[in-house]
Amino acid sequence: MKTLSVIVPCFNEEAVIAVTYQRIKKVLSELNNVSGRIIFVNDGSKDKTREILSEIAAEDPSAQVIHFSRNFGHQKAVTAGINYCKSDLAVIIDADLQDPPELIPELLAKQEAQQANVVYCVRKSRAGESKFKLWSAKTFYRSLNKLSEVQFPLDTGDFRLIDARVMREFNRFKEKGKYIRGIISWIGFKQVPFYYEREARLAGETKYPLKKMLAFASTALLYFSKKPLMMVVSLGFTVVAFSIIMALWYALGKIFGYTNAESGWTSIMIIVIFFGGIQLLTVGVLGQYIGILFDEVKERPEYIIDKIEN
Ligand code: UDP
Ligand code: MG
Repeated sequence: MKTLSVIVPCFNEEAVIAVTYQRIKKVLSELNNVSGRIIFVNDGSKDKTREILSEIAAEDPSAQVIHFSRNFGHQKAVTAGINYCKSDLAVIIDADLQDPPELIPELLAKQEAQQANVVYCVRKSRAGESKFKLWSAKTFYRSLNKLSEVQFPLDTGDFRLIDARVMREFNRFKEKGKYIRGIISWIGFKQVPFYYEREARLAGETKYPLKKMLAFASTALLYFSKKPLMMVVSLGFTVVAFSIIMALWYALGKIFGYTNAESGWTSIMIIVIFFGGIQLLTVGVLGQYIGILFDEVKERPEYIIDKIEN
């Protein structure tokens, strides 16, 4: 009999978590030939999530709860879930029921039928999301693919089924900044898509405000692409080439008398600001990568666990 763990990262999910537990539990209890359990990772919730999860753990020994010492972020919570998972298979799923747990049997069937190592879920539609979120997500995944050295499946979140082999490889990744869906694609083996309709959040608010979304996007970009550095180099070359042409043009113009360059305040100001801007941009891009080196070189633990139940 195969074993399956459902990994659920939770941050301030008191409004949904009890229902989430019941729905996953029901699905797991109806599985044939697979014995399922749940790993909740409480990512430093400040509401009643902690108490609710502890109650669940006390009543159900098959539900494991990992409590972080504070909020470390969604990707760290999923990482901890994978690190602690000992099953043959794992499903990563959000706590807010946007990804319906009722699809788990279909994911298992697809994995079995195709002997896949990863079944990643592709969103055919996304209910209940703001126009901005839809647009930004769409633009982000497409731009990332243009910039990255590896290609990622589009419109795919962390909702997926992975097997023990993929988890073993994942656990070898020492980088602290984790863009999990990217890492799993990067690992390779047999990965197959599964198309589904994403639902609206059952209750509560999104735990991904703009600030977290931007941090998430920049981790993805910086860890999977060095192209921004190349782009900045090209920009430098273009500007230098332009300045040489301009210098020649005006030098020859002086000799042959076809220019009459008056010293003008406006043109000088524009040029000074323009080059100041380009330099700041270049240093900024460089700084982003140095920042990553700084974070990685410190070798801090990725997350701190307060307590594990079951
Ligand atoms: N989450 C987390 N830590 C965080 C933010 C979010 O563990 O710092 C969890 C959250 O509880 C949920 C999942 O990550 O299970 C996705 O978050 P959410 O549904 O709020 O994001 P959205 O679907 O709006 O992008
Ligand atoms: Mg959500």
